[in-house]
Amino acid sequence: MSYEYERVVTPASGLRLHLNENTGGCSPRVLEALRGMSAADVAFYPDYDRAIAACAAHLGITPDRLLLTNGLDDGILAVSILALRGGAAGMPGEVVITVPAFDMYAACADAVGGTVVDVRQGADFTFPVDAVLAAIGRRTRLVWLTNPNNPTGQVIARETLLRVARAAPHAIVVVDEAYADFSGETLIADPEAARLPNLIVGRTFAKAHGLAGLRAGALVGDPATLAPLRAIVAPYTINAATAIALPVALEDTEHFESYCGQVRESKTLLYAALDRLRIKYWRSAANFVLVSLGDDSARVIRELASREIYVRDRSADPGCSGCIRVTTGLVEHTRAFMDALEEVLCDEA
Ligand SMILES: *Cc1c(COP(=O)(O)O)cnc(C)c1O
Repeated sequence: MSYEYERVVTPASGLRLHLNENTGGCSPRVLEALRGMSAADVAFYPDYDRAIAACAAHLGITPDRLLLTNGLDDGILAVSILALRGGAAGMPGEVVITVPAFDMYAACADAVGGTVVDVRQGADFTFPVDAVLAAIGRRTRLVWLTNPNNPTGQVIARETLLRVARAAPHAIVVVDEAYADFSGETLIADPEAARLPNLIVGRTFAKAHGLAGLRAGALVGDPATLAPLRAIVAPYTINAATAIALPVALEDTEHFESYCGQVRESKTLLYAALDRLRIKYWRSAANFVLVSLGDDSARVIRELASREIYVRDRSADPGCSGCIRVTTGLVEHTRAFMDALEEVLCDEA
């Protein structure tokens, strides 16, 4: 089985609701900062002091608990290398993933020669804590937990996250908090989590902060656990533009709050519309919603695309047959999706 990441290519124009991006764009102040870059800023290897200080302050941690990465994807690969390298021939280390999951966990495990152990999520995508605990064994080197989950938007209780981390002291347990800006729940600065050296938290500034194109992510954890990761991640993995932009993006809390407000309003509107249309969906703690369109999903995706509205087909994911995932960001964009969806559904037959 190949776990290669499927890059979804869409035209640059049109409404991109398929990758959970901030479709309102980054803070205008970020653009200003980028325009202010000098020739030397571009010509010299970047310095990260300001970006590290700003990010640590933003997360409420000391810099020794922080590792900036070139998008969280870069961090996911680095953790996979650390956890899985040196596996004896014929005895590859195991990576426990609850599915449906973000594709990069399996892609990276595959890339570095790990064995993927899939655990199916429970009814309505509840976290299968007993099955995860049962899947953790002697050969487990890495456990991926995503809170809130992508593509389901479901949350995992703090106690459950800590329980899994405690059950696998010989493995690295990562809590991917790519969407924590929307759920408001995080293990960063949680005193109990800080006592677990095998627990790493992953963050990205791609989603709520609108920096997906610049690539900006972070790993947070015990300084001793991060030390070998610092040796794996390339020394200049973050480019100069990102190093300049990140502190500015973090400073613009108004832009951030406004987007998070739009996400909340978008979800409320979409839930009401889907209830009215009697379409099944799962309430989400992130900036997207998984929607079940059943047998009609391929046609709907096609029809939406012909109207230049792009959503993500998740129907091949375990338990997601007939499902699409749609970004619920700017209200204006959510409305455009809802109008088009209703039109497409009325066209039926
Ligand atoms: C988007 C996403 C990431 C990757 O973020 P980047 O910073 O863009 O690499 C990681 N994990 C999950 C669950 C995501 O949805």
